[in-house]
Amino acid sequence: MNSNADWRRRSLAAVWHPCTQMKLHAPEGADVPLIPVTRAEGVWLHDADGGRYLDAISSWWVNLFGHNHPAIRAALTDQLQRLDHVMLAGFTHAPVVELSERLAALTGLGHAFYGSDGASATEIALKMSAHHWRNAGQPAKNGFVSVAGGYHGETVGALAVTDIALFREAYAPLVRLAHTVPSPDARAARGDQTAADVAHLAADAAERWLAEHHATTAAMIVEPLVQCASGMAMHHPVYLQRLRAACSQWQVHLVLDEIAVGFGRTGSLFAHQQAGIQPDFLCLSKGLTGGTLPLSVVLCTDAVYGAFYDDEVARGFLHSHSYTGNPLACRAALATLDLFDETNALVANQASASHLAALFEPLSTHARVRHARQQGMIFAWDVASSLPDFARRYSRAALARGLVLRPIGHTLYAMPPYVMNETEMAHLATGALAALNDTLAQEQGGDAVTQGVMDAV
Ligand SMILES: *Cc1c(COP(=O)(O)O)cnc(C)c1O
Repeated sequence: MNSNADWRRRSLAAVWHPCTQMKLHAPEGADVPLIPVTRAEGVWLHDADGGRYLDAISSWWVNLFGHNHPAIRAALTDQLQRLDHVMLAGFTHAPVVELSERLAALTGLGHAFYGSDGASATEIALKMSAHHWRNAGQPAKNGFVSVAGGYHGETVGALAVTDIALFREAYAPLVRLAHTVPSPDARAARGDQTAADVAHLAADAAERWLAEHHATTAAMIVEPLVQCASGMAMHHPVYLQRLRAACSQWQVHLVLDEIAVGFGRTGSLFAHQQAGIQPDFLCLSKGLTGGTLPLSVVLCTDAVYGAFYDDEVARGFLHSHSYTGNPLACRAALATLDLFDETNALVANQASASHLAALFEPLSTHARVRHARQQGMIFAWDVASSLPDFARRYSRAALARGLVLRPIGHTLYAMPPYVMNETEMAHLATGALAALNDTLAQEQGGDAVTQGVMDAV
């Protein structure tokens, strides 16, 4: 049987891992060990040597109800007996019809266009918005505006509206950059300013920009309530209300990217519901299939759909991906929606979130922590540390304590699955704090936590 070391060696020889400087995994350095996962159950990932790790970031924010959930597994097994895949142009099937109907009922957006992952949903929304205006006789409306620190994926089109230098710099010559307006990030509050004050100031700036540039702007794209990838920047919902009003006034589409914050992460099924608004486009992915299969969807209004409905072929939305609306992925999504109903997940999450917040109290009040913050099942803490590679060292310390936590820069965060029991919540909170102290102990130039992760777990 292959051990961790065997899989690690074979993987490093054959697999190019995402979002990774591969040299950091180099066997000699082994600064960050690659973890070979052989199976997963609930919130636990198990490695080839019998170690286990609590998946406190839901495998890059996709998992909702735990790994290998019996209900999702049963739905997939059943679907595999019937229909694996069929192209969605010229064909349709029950899972895609039912999923589209249910998403329409949940959002009020009645037309569902499917993609395969988050970045493709962003691409679809941007193309669809610009094409809508072209069909509407306003081809000059083809620019986009996004929010500072926003993240909408990493394909070339999505990078145009993604404002994270590390992901974008090398590809700058390839990208037609969108304009960015200031972030409503509540951490910018000074003196006696409130989160709402910061949100209003940011909304003022967006409004001014739209007033001046609406004639050449197709859409504004925003991550509602939490800008996740730039470090869990949270904002007041009044920002979204102001944007909705400004976008309507200036005839600019409001595209909400709920790829990360959708499906209950922020406390409501969709984040924008907390602002009581409706977008023109809604992008969903990640939790859509409960973390089992890649699938994304762009939901849009009747008005958008209507601008494409025509005798002329070229006025249609001629965009496709081979696996668009894959039946297996749609069945996983339907089973996931069932779980929200059957487990009353949003209500249960309120209890879990407040219990976790209490357990995290020692971390939130830690002398080195700034801006402890929470939105639903998303928790974040900024850590004052002199370590330039704080994130990497913390991840390693967390793994040694049986936890998957990967800070973004100096921001530590947890975005766990919704199904943790008391013991698992305690393991998360205790481990997160201990890993912080382990990491900070390395500041003195000491090598306190350099034991192999494999020995420690
Ligand atoms: C993850 C993410 C994306 C991109 O999704 P991929 O599936 O990784 O392409 C887009 N927008 C937001 C807000 C995300 O968090």
